[in-house]
Amino acid sequence: MKSNKEKFDAIIIGSGIGGLVTASQLAVKGARVLVLEKYIIPGGSGGSFKRKGYTFDVGASMIFGFGKKGYTNLLTRALKDVNETCETIPDPVQLEYHLPNNFNIAIDRQYEKFIRKLTDQFPHEKEGIKSFYGTCVKVFNCLDSMPLLSIEDPSYLMKVFFKAPLSCLGLARWLPVNAGDVARKFIKDPKLLNFIDIECFCWSVMPALKTPMINAGMVFTDRHVGGINYPKGGVGIIAEKLVKGIEKLGSKVRYKANVTEILFKKEKVIGVKLSNGEEILSNIVVSNSTRWDTFGLNAKKKGLIKKEHVPKKEFKWAETYKPSPSFVSIHLGVSKELIDKDFNCHHIIVENWEELENEKGVIFVSIPTLLDSSLAPVDKHIIHAFTPSSISEWDNLSKEEYQIKKQNYYLFLLGKISKIIPNLEQNIDHNEIGTPRTHRKFLGRFEGSYGPIPNKKLLGLLPMPFNTTNIENLYCVGDSCFPGQGLNAVAFSGFACAHKIGSKLKINRFKLPN
Ligand SMILES: Cc1cc2nc3c(=O)[nH]c(=O)nc-3n(C[C@H](O)[C@H](O)[C@H](O)COP(=O)(O)OP(=O)(O)OC[C@H]3O[C@@H](n4cnc5c(N)ncnc54)[C@H](O)[C@@H]3O)c2cc1C
Repeated sequence: MKSNKEKFDAIIIGSGIGGLVTASQLAVKGARVLVLEKYIIPGGSGGSFKRKGYTFDVGASMIFGFGKKGYTNLLTRALKDVNETCETIPDPVQLEYHLPNNFNIAIDRQYEKFIRKLTDQFPHEKEGIKSFYGTCVKVFNCLDSMPLLSIEDPSYLMKVFFKAPLSCLGLARWLPVNAGDVARKFIKDPKLLNFIDIECFCWSVMPALKTPMINAGMVFTDRHVGGINYPKGGVGIIAEKLVKGIEKLGSKVRYKANVTEILFKKEKVIGVKLSNGEEILSNIVVSNSTRWDTFGLNAKKKGLIKKEHVPKKEFKWAETYKPSPSFVSIHLGVSKELIDKDFNCHHIIVENWEELENEKGVIFVSIPTLLDSSLAPVDKHIIHAFTPSSISEWDNLSKEEYQIKKQNYYLFLLGKISKIIPNLEQNIDHNEIGTPRTHRKFLGRFEGSYGPIPNKKLLGLLPMPFNTTNIENLYCVGDSCFPGQGLNAVAFSGFACAHKIGSKLKINRFKLPN
């Protein structure tokens, strides 16, 4: 057993955006931190990888949080705090939906234009559309007008309350509410309610009745305010710049550093152990691994914490939330002339509303080279497409069965993409396919899941845990914490986690952020 004697105020397990924002914020506050990442690059599901002149995004490519104003532009803020910026390219359209019965609609960056287009399709629901999306704007305005970077610290909450009392009350009002209930208050047409379902599903992987209103208010408004902006050079650049910022401040990020155990002395966490036997001690440990992987919940394989230390609260959480399905993803390099330059970057295809939550029920397609041509060789485009798929479809297959299934899913995805991009198959220069097993292995995520989804209808975001755990010195960050999945959401989780640890270390600034 090797013991590393270097001193760190905190160790962060994992370099997802949640982990990196925690680390960078702590470093800015003056702490010395160590990020341990088991893979060879940072970013987790928000990373990018390179092949044959292409830069492919692992997962995320529709990026919120790069706005210039307000308090919800958390990626801009996290980078600025470490004196870094990302050059971004504004996306004029968030995404284009291709829905059953030839219902097609693109979500323009301009709010009025989008509302007008939707109202043209549903003139009898003019008031309902205005009221539902108008309520989302109200929720967003509450969030965007207060520097709410922690919900767990009562003294900080008090300060925020005195600065923006109405916004705080507004937030408290919407916390236990789901978007589908609000939509049903204003809208009656089932086809329009289906549309609200896919509007939610495309980022929450749940229909509207199970999607928290806070998140819906944020997404349905910020796309028109801060907008969707693509970071030049690929989404992985966000993680790379955060790492640069962390290192400039004297903290460290290590790759191929697989944490296999969180160490305890009596009931307290005292450090971590790596797969090479190395032990590193610190009074604070933050896990950016999922709750299932951290606590060994629902799994045959053990978690990072020995069973006897796992708090009952975590088992309760695993009854309240289940892992969403994973995805089968394909990454293609294709001939440039295949895609018109005015084609939209992000598309969603649904052919049957009944299949929305089923295996292969929704197809996501992104062509990031329409925004940033530097991601591919001059005469090529990138297509990244994925569809929900469960690990149960992929476990227990022989090598041959696995290869055949991969090929079937690949052809299935090509067939669907061809409906919006004809002549695809003859024009592919490079292809890669990832299954739920790939997501589990390379992103270190339980069942390759996209993240937690409610087991049953819940009271909005209320049951989602914050960063503190019932174990002394152990914190969690990332998409199995409040407020859930998405780069901007996990960035919030990172800010909140760093604030909570900062108050323990007494290194938080007294003043609220500007
Ligand atoms: C296909 C796909 C498409 C998506 N599209 C979008 C999108 O368009 N927009 C958007 O905002 N979001 C999108 N998301 C969601 C978003 O990417 C995630 O919610 C977010 O990146 C999760 O961040 P995280 O901080 O929770 O950590 P993760 O990204 O899960 O990273 C955790 C990191 O911890 C490391 N790790 C885990 N265990 C250990 C260990 N024991 N030791 C050391 N390291 C460990 C992992 O290797 C990983 O790097 C998408 C996700 C997927 C999969």
